[in-house]
Amino acid sequence: MALSVSNFGAHMDRKFGVIGRQPASCFDHGEYSAVILKGGNLSGCPKCASNKRDMQELERKRCQFRIVQQSCARIPKRFAEKTFADFVVSNPAQQIALDACTDYVDNFRSIAVKVAACCCWGRSVLARPTWPLPRPVT
Ligand SMILES: [Zn+2]
Repeated sequence: MALSVSNFGAHMDRKFGVIGRQPASCFDHGEYSAVILKGGNLSGCPKCASNKRDMQELERKRCQFRIVQQSCARIPKRFAEKTFADFVVSNPAQQIALDACTDYVDNFRSIAVKVAACCCWGRSVLARPTWPLPRPVT
């Protein structure tokens, strides 16, 4: 039999070993059509499966991003999992350094905004109190 639009679904079912379908329900997504495979196994909710694949892809990208960022930062592997809690202070200068670093991290968002707006991006122009206002239309 020639493959046409009308029998494409049945063709694909045979190709992937689908022998039937039956109504099923997902707690999160409601009713769906579960697929019965040759071995008798039932498919799960397609939306849950899609969400699971999306989360796995997100985690894969997050892991890849972390690897690239750690490589760019040139942090030695032995320090990669260290935190400020792991740092042992043994003199006052180290305590000052630790305080400066924790302050930097705690206030990173506001520091990053200041750094991002520092180089000729019009920050001073926007902040000028004597900015000429447009004349009212008469
Ligand atoms: Zn679901």
